[in-house]
Amino acid sequence: MDGDGQVGKGRFDERAFRAEVREFCANGIPDELAEKIRRHAYFSKEDRVQWQRLLHARGWFVGDWPVAYGGGGWGPVQRLVLIEELERAGTPWLTHFGFSFVGPVIYTFGSEAQKARYLPGIRESKTWWCQGFSEPGAGSDLASVATFAERDGDHYIVSGQKTWTTMAQWADKMFCLVRTQRCERRQQGISFLLIDLRSPGVTVRPIQTIDGIRHVNEVFLDAVRVPVQDRVGEEGDGWKLARFIVGRERLLVAELGKARRLLDRLTALGLELKDGDLPLGETPAFRLRLAQLEVQLHSLRTSAYAIAQDMERAGGAESDASLLKIRGSEMQQAILDAVISALGATGLAFQPEAILAEFAGEVHGLEEAPALIFDHLYSRATSIYGGSNEIQRGIVAKAQLGL
Ligand SMILES: Cc1cc2nc3c(=O)[nH]c(=O)nc-3n(C[C@H](O)[C@H](O)[C@H](O)COP(=O)(O)OP(=O)(O)OC[C@H]3O[C@@H](n4cnc5c(N)ncnc54)[C@H](O)[C@@H]3O)c2cc1C
Repeated sequence: MDGDGQVGKGRFDERAFRAEVREFCANGIPDELAEKIRRHAYFSKEDRVQWQRLLHARGWFVGDWPVAYGGGGWGPVQRLVLIEELERAGTPWLTHFGFSFVGPVIYTFGSEAQKARYLPGIRESKTWWCQGFSEPGAGSDLASVATFAERDGDHYIVSGQKTWTTMAQWADKMFCLVRTQRCERRQQGISFLLIDLRSPGVTVRPIQTIDGIRHVNEVFLDAVRVPVQDRVGEEGDGWKLARFIVGRERLLVAELGKARRLLDRLTALGLELKDGDLPLGETPAFRLRLAQLEVQLHSLRTSAYAIAQDMERAGGAESDASLLKIRGSEMQQAILDAVISALGATGLAFQPEAILAEFAGEVHGLEEAPALIFDHLYSRATSIYGGSNEIQRGIVAKAQLGL
């Protein structure tokens, strides 16, 4: 796709921009962060904030926001190029809850007061946001949200429980779906609130995950007072705003650059490791798997750019984002399954402590094994978060069948 980005409103020189991002990733990152990237260490909140601010200083962090709100007015293709190159270089995952989700909701649907109050903190990574959609009884079936917000003068009193809330332990604010009215049609009566997580009545508890890292949390809301002025849109607009966010989320999980980096790593393992006396890369089974994965990634990437160009021209279809979500998550899992097979016995014993930056002990086996096993374990979640792949298949089927 190099040199093919000259379409639509986001007219830019794709080749030059891609080269600029690569150059920055190779030579522009401060030493301490660059060393963590080299070691594939787990990034702290401070690392992530530092990185987002570095990107902001170059005009890249909110490049796709409208110019009026401090962005660069980019189209989806330029944004895809940036994210692909950052992922490929292994830089910290950008925390999309603020700048990709609630930021665009606020500048598209929010009041002038909300724009003035919240957008600067998001742009400058001063406020950390998390997403409070899922509940114990409302995941795939998001319209079942039961967290209730009762009006009390110029406040809502919010009670309920959110779950799987990524990085809520670091968050200042949570954008949240709450029920403000019980309606026959469950999609109605849902509203979108911005909740301050330091408010009395908020409790954040970790959920233990298979890889040993704290990614996700339960958030309990016990009669939390939220000013009415922190509702985005009208009462009952929550479903519309949730759909706006969920569409953006599915595009991001394609993770083309990460897949490229991992596939390059798999290729290198074929040269470094042996299967008996033979280099792994000379065994027919390894070669066949590598070739299949290369073809699949090539086709995923071609589709992702075609969809981004279509979005730039025509806004794109919801089912296209679902397709990318399905193939992107399956791709990542397939590459990491192949990586773990290639590691053989080294891939069996996970040292979770070895992915922390402060780890000074000895890694058993290959230096990169802990990070690769960590990626493998976490990749199980890619086909669940952002709407499970079964749900995405339902969306694609309905669109194709015209239902
Ligand atoms: C690592 C991780 C991070 C997450 N981060 C966040 C976050 O920050 N904020 C947030 O709000 N949520 C977050 N989530 C929640 C995520 O969006 C939900 O897990 C997801 O939507 C699935 O919902 P559920 O877990 O309730 O599963 P369920 O909806 O109970 O589904 C269970 C199984 O049944 C299948 N299923 C359900 N309904 C159907 C159907 N109609 N047709 C076919 N199959 C069906 C599903 O595919 C799944 O396999 C995260 C999840 C994970 C794993």
